[in-house]
Amino acid sequence: MPTNAEWMARDLKVLWHPCTQMKDHEWLPVVPIKRGKGVWLEDFDGNQYIDAVSSWWVNLFGHCNPRINAALVDQLETLEHVILGGFSHRAVVELSEQLVEITPAGLDRCFYADNGSSAVEVALKMSFHYWQNCGQKKKTRFVTLSNSYHGETLAALAVGDVALYKETYEPLLMDVITVPSPDCYFREEGESWSDYSERQFEKMELALEKHHQEVCAVIVEPLIQCAGNMRMYHPIYLTKLREACDRYGVHLIADEIAVGFGRTGTMFACEQAKITPDFMCLSKGLTGGYLPLSAVMTSTPIYDAFYDDYESMKAFLHSHSFTGNPLGCRAALATLDIFRTDDVINANQQLIDVMKQACAPLADHPHVAEVRQHGMVVAIELVKNKKSREAYPWQERRGLKVYQHALSRGALLRPLGNVVYLMPPYVITPEQIHQLVEIMLEGIHIATRD
Ligand code: PMP
Repeated sequence: MPTNAEWMARDLKVLWHPCTQMKDHEWLPVVPIKRGKGVWLEDFDGNQYIDAVSSWWVNLFGHCNPRINAALVDQLETLEHVILGGFSHRAVVELSEQLVEITPAGLDRCFYADNGSSAVEVALKMSFHYWQNCGQKKKTRFVTLSNSYHGETLAALAVGDVALYKETYEPLLMDVITVPSPDCYFREEGESWSDYSERQFEKMELALEKHHQEVCAVIVEPLIQCAGNMRMYHPIYLTKLREACDRYGVHLIADEIAVGFGRTGTMFACEQAKITPDFMCLSKGLTGGYLPLSAVMTSTPIYDAFYDDYESMKAFLHSHSFTGNPLGCRAALATLDIFRTDDVINANQQLIDVMKQACAPLADHPHVAEVRQHGMVVAIELVKNKKSREAYPWQERRGLKVYQHALSRGALLRPLGNVVYLMPPYVITPEQIHQLVEIMLEGIHIATRD
């Protein structure tokens, strides 16, 4: 069996890895994975790693989960794929029924795409097209939050605001209205999350007041701006936003691609604000992290605005080849079955408490500005100066040092800049959480010692 080094050499001859400066791999090894089981990944040299980031936030119930595997094997022998234009299949019907059931009341229709970015594209296009169909031709713009992230395709990138990914492509991107985020990292000392989020909402109110006639929708990542360094805010912001969107006649798009399926402690983050968005984008955990599939949930009134005689040209003529792929849908059904039979949302409460207790002492570290948590996501913000919160220059790549240390200790922790975080599969044990926090602390010591 070839070793890590042999796989890496072959890999580097032909691959171009995502989100990577390939030159880094002159000194930073690629880790070729031979197999996965539960929270563990194993490489070709026999090293094992706890997947603390759920392989880019997708995995919910462990790698090679026996229940999802069994469902997929069955599906594979029944139907691997079929065109969804004019055709249908059992898995997509059952999944749609269940998604309508579990998402907030009023989201009655599912439109499928095949990854998160395309779901965002669908929601943006549907919102715009809805207003066109309703004769509101001036509505052509979108409102987004600073520090947001919605994917890498051009429209998804345009409504995002992470400079690292966006800046280069700026000349290609549509113009959006960017409102300061409710990101509670910037709250005043002694100010509560809810007070700060509420205070930040005033800026959104002003933007909507000024621009609502030209705005189709506001798009947000509910409660956690994940790619934007796991910055978090209070549900009050979403409650107020829902109310304002209704008042101003603007759609609300909730991008729950990263936070959906239990990450924030509830099945969907919107539940904590008791709101129903006009569009909810789902992906990642939708298939338990097995296969690329995404869904955009929307309401009957929006669906109805497209429903007319063909010649009216009101139809939503958007498609992707793998829309509603049966294997993806079946993995999703198996995933939802685990949520139900194992009462996962309630069971996770214990893990949430363990993560909280285990990470609390990290706040005392001289280079940790904040330890923050929403449900199954905990993030540790490293800073150069704890008192002034002066950040480490990004060029120093402190987080990368934590990544390297963690690999040497059997953990896949992939920080975002200077933010180290845990977003583990739900099959992690309390002991494994403690082990990860220990590794994280060692890594933080190493990364901040000079
Ligand atoms: N929206 C959010 C909130 C995300 O976190 C991501 C992926 N990290 C996306 C959209 C894009 O999803 P994908 O990578 O599947 O295109």
